[in-house]
Amino acid sequence: MNHSNSRRAFLRRAAAVVLAAALLLAGCAAAEEPAPQQNSAVGFYFDTVITLSAYCDQELLDEALARCEYYENTLSKTVEGSDVWNINHAGGQPVTVSDDTIALLETALRASELSDGAFDVTIAPVTALWDFTSGEAVLPDDADIQAALPLVDYTQIKVEGNTVTLPAGMMIDLGGIAKGYIADELAAFLREKGVTSADLNLGGNVITIGRKPDGTAWRIGVQNPHGSRDESILILNLVDATVVTSGNYERYFELDGVRYHHILDPETGYPVSNGLASVSIITQSSMYADALSTACYVLGLEEGMALIEELEDVEAIFITEDLEVHYSSGVVVNDSIN
Ligand code: ADP
Ligand code: MG
Repeated sequence: MNHSNSRRAFLRRAAAVVLAAALLLAGCAAAEEPAPQQNSAVGFYFDTVITLSAYCDQELLDEALARCEYYENTLSKTVEGSDVWNINHAGGQPVTVSDDTIALLETALRASELSDGAFDVTIAPVTALWDFTSGEAVLPDDADIQAALPLVDYTQIKVEGNTVTLPAGMMIDLGGIAKGYIADELAAFLREKGVTSADLNLGGNVITIGRKPDGTAWRIGVQNPHGSRDESILILNLVDATVVTSGNYERYFELDGVRYHHILDPETGYPVSNGLASVSIITQSSMYADALSTACYVLGLEEGMALIEELEDVEAIFITEDLEVHYSSGVVVNDSIN
């Protein structure tokens, strides 16, 4: 059953959306001491701009940003010697990897099961055939795609403790989930250091800590899929929550009037084409949100929304190509907040 409310959103109208009270009220601590000033740190990792903004010392933010290098060197499929590189080049042999990689694989497998394989971390043999980054519009050879498809099967991954075994020829790609994990880890690091107010943006993966020092929620825009990067179609009020968006406008090329984008259907090996422009997931775990945003994009509006309605404390906003906005039942639209 689909409990979604549908509302047409217009380009110039920023609908304010308030999350379910449970999400909003979590962790609303009032600061007694005068808050430190807001600082930010900007870097480029995982092929995306990372902007960390928090009410804390600059040094602490710089330290948080520097941790991205460790994650890049551990989780990138192109960095030789990374956990992912080692798994992908093991030729069927078991590989021992970090706790980070195990945590990611466990959530990836859970998302695969929940979505019946719409999210599949073993999509790498197919993603390797597509090039969405060079700017050149080149279609892969269909025969290569057909040959790669039998190598996409998450049920073949074996995880025992910190050991991962993959049949020879299979490969993993954490691109659909890693930024969410790193967002969670950076937020946890800042929290441990006493930060109570922050807004971390990892290329569209946003996680917030607490409220702004004035007690208001963080206002986070969801991008208009047809607009520029800084043009929001609606605004979310977030307190200790994350919003992660998967869209067909992030990485793509166009050929003969067709847009080929980077979210691929594990069944066909081709970009998903189901009328969706983006899916945003709102919940507490950014890693889970990241996997679910990719999964729901592949599942499409009906099946994706049905999955979200089954999950506790997870909300979603689906935006179609014609800019219809569909909210899951726990998203409260509050038009009085602007
Ligand atoms: P973004 O990287 O823009 O945040 P996503 O989270 O949706 O967007 O991730 C897209 C990436 O996930 C792709 O670049 C690719 O590495 C990987 N991917 C593509 N299709 C799938 C899929 N069906 N299942 C799992 N991962 C995928
Ligand atoms: Mg994702």
